[in-house]
Amino acid sequence: MQIIDGKAVSAAVRDRIKAEVLELKSKGKQTGLAVIIVGEDPASKVYVSNKKKGCEQVGINSFEYALPEETTTEELLTLIGELNNDDKVDGILCQLPLPKHIDEQTVINSIVPEKDVDAFHPTNTGHIMIGDYSFLPCTPAGIIEMLNFYNIEISGKECVVIGRSNIVGKPMAMLLLQNSGTVTVCHSKTADLSDVTKRADILVSAVGKANFVTAEMVKDGAVVIDVGMNRNAEGKLCGDVDFEAVKDKCSFITPVPGGVGPMTITMLLNNTLTASKNRIK
Ligand code: NAP
Repeated sequence: MQIIDGKAVSAAVRDRIKAEVLELKSKGKQTGLAVIIVGEDPASKVYVSNKKKGCEQVGINSFEYALPEETTTEELLTLIGELNNDDKVDGILCQLPLPKHIDEQTVINSIVPEKDVDAFHPTNTGHIMIGDYSFLPCTPAGIIEMLNFYNIEISGKECVVIGRSNIVGKPMAMLLLQNSGTVTVCHSKTADLSDVTKRADILVSAVGKANFVTAEMVKDGAVVIDVGMNRNAEGKLCGDVDFEAVKDKCSFITPVPGGVGPMTITMLLNNTLTASKNRIK
């Protein structure tokens, strides 16, 4: 069994991004990311701080907009409208989840697709569907990058994704399909989950429940990708997969922390670089 080291893959990709950001800078084009956070959610604050650190590391200018919990949808849309027209800003990211009184989809739709570095706008989602895109959603894109890094073949493989969210499960399935995997998507209404997951050569779990994927659900020699970010009974960060039990059964596995997580931010930096290059064009 080999552990897929998300930090190592991430470091390699960030080196490439840094070099390209510097090259653009030498030609007079700075690259900028605006990060909006509304409210006081502690997990969101950690994500935003990590995104800012990532920007610093690769030379991307980051502009943080920390808005109070009581911000209205209109106020948020006004800020996004300004950022859409701001030349210093190549990418706009609005940290989700937003407070309940703000309509998330309206906010996502208000970011111009060219600056939508999360790739959540319906225009970008549509581009992904037809396989002609500038940006890919960060988490699934990071997973494909890791599979490529470890020379793990997708073509012709049975791929099972547990979870069908718009930000992870659905785009993950689409990217595996585009890489010629045979893809099955499972969710909470799947009749016999274990029966499906046991077929998987590549199993991606994006559920959000600790110890959800047990050894009995995994085929011998499978590649197991754990997207989950959960807290266990001791409050420690863990994924969806029962790592200790599953690790000896599979050929490759991502740990939590240190697997998918670091790659997600790296792909955000990559999308911001792409947005910057596209704006020169
Ligand atoms: P989500 O929107 O809550 O989706 C969870 C999915 O799991 C849903 O499709 C749900 O099915 C399915 N599910 C729930 N219980 C199930 C069951 N018993 N059997 C089969 N499927 C079941 O979550 P998300 O936003 O996709 O995130 C999933 C996890 O990934 C979370 O832990 C999140 O924190 C983590 N995450 C990590 C990163 C990273 O960078 N590492 C990035 C994003 C998310 P239904 O659709 O039928 O309800």
